[in-house]
Amino acid sequence: MEEIRAVKGMNDVLPPESGRLSRFFEVGRRVLGTYGYGEVVTPIAEYTELFARAVGATTDMVEKEMYTFADRDGRSLSLRPEGTAGAVRAYLQHAVHRAEPVTRWFYAGPMFRHERQQRGRYRQFHQIGAEALGIAEPGIDAEMITMLVDLLAAIGVPSTRARVSSLGCAACRPAYRERLTAWLRPRVAGLCEDCRRRLDHNPLRVLDCKKPGCAAARDGAPSTLDLLCDACRVHLDGVVADLEAQSVPHRLDGTLVRGLDYYTRTAFEIVSDAAELGAQNTLVGGGRYDGLVEELGGPRVPAIGFAMGVERALLAIPAEAPPAAVDVFLVALGEPARRFAIGRARELRAAGLRVDLDHRGGGARRQIKRAAALGARVAAWVGDDELARGCITLKDLRDGSQREVAQADLLAAVRATLAGGS
Ligand code: ATP
Ligand code: MG
Repeated sequence: MEEIRAVKGMNDVLPPESGRLSRFFEVGRRVLGTYGYGEVVTPIAEYTELFARAVGATTDMVEKEMYTFADRDGRSLSLRPEGTAGAVRAYLQHAVHRAEPVTRWFYAGPMFRHERQQRGRYRQFHQIGAEALGIAEPGIDAEMITMLVDLLAAIGVPSTRARVSSLGCAACRPAYRERLTAWLRPRVAGLCEDCRRRLDHNPLRVLDCKKPGCAAARDGAPSTLDLLCDACRVHLDGVVADLEAQSVPHRLDGTLVRGLDYYTRTAFEIVSDAAELGAQNTLVGGGRYDGLVEELGGPRVPAIGFAMGVERALLAIPAEAPPAAVDVFLVALGEPARRFAIGRARELRAAGLRVDLDHRGGGARRQIKRAAALGARVAAWVGDDELARGCITLKDLRDGSQREVAQADLLAAVRATLAGGS
């Protein structure tokens, strides 16, 4: 029979790699919690119109990358390609803006984009992201960037740096757009087909194209920072001053844009220079989207958010030996001993220890080998002799030392062994 494989670009994550993934989420949740963010959990599918409206109907993400299908009632649904649209939809649907002036939410989970798969770019991947709604002041922009630097450091991602820009606002962006279009026109021959189209309806996107030809053709392009209106300039200066006050290294880059339509003013990225990432070195993208809540039918609520690619950040972390999954291995010799051992295993597990035993039985040598392969620190040994005498033999698998303890003292003795040395 033909083997059925996973959908292209959608990966299985097996232990111990899955442990790295969940530790990443744990650290993420903890650090975001220290900044006051609560978790919002939204569905994995939304009505397609939501993304068309929030992300922009003519963006690559919506036009080319979404997993869109009709459900059995004939409504068009899409698997979420990003998390902001769903979070803002939930914010409005539950009228959260009426209940509190400031909302800090984060989300963590899978996203789906039909992209060309390569290292660091998948069709199902995970993001941790956050949205801070209700604050127009630049303080939250700088705080969010600072939080991300802290988060990546806590996770152990090396060589990160923040790039910060401003995309301007409705008042000043048109002038920049015009200047950029005029600058790009004579260079159109160097652009890819998509960018030639973008030149007419969204020239800023040309700055975001990943193709090497386009990157070369736009070298030296005008900076958004030169044409900011006074209000946008003051805002950006505020972000920079706050970053400096918190000693967060950053670089201003007036050619940094974000691929989505809803961004205004501050845009930022965090990249890592870890060699493993290659061209896929952007770990986090984010920015301010003061117009989005209104765009989705709500009041005008200023907001800023980010999304971090979890797999990509994991690629940047040097691989370490996976931690052992077992603390104690119960070696049971013979069926009466196995029966006895399963009861002790349950007690040890209830005390929070990670316990394994081999229901297949077999000789002592084989079981000890299995214990060592699992990385167990302690082997606890029971055979007919130990059963008869009411004791258990404990073996410290790191140094090979061995001692006999009373069955009633098993938990305390195991804990003492685990606590001794490292
Ligand atoms: P890129 O420029 O790399 O395509 P993007 O601008 O599409 O990224 P965002 O939509 O801002 O990215 O998503 C934020 C982060 O999510 C990215 O910086 C990246 O780390 C991660 N990410 C985006 N798309 C993918 C993907 N297909 N596979 C893995 N991670 C991804
Ligand atoms: Mg992309």
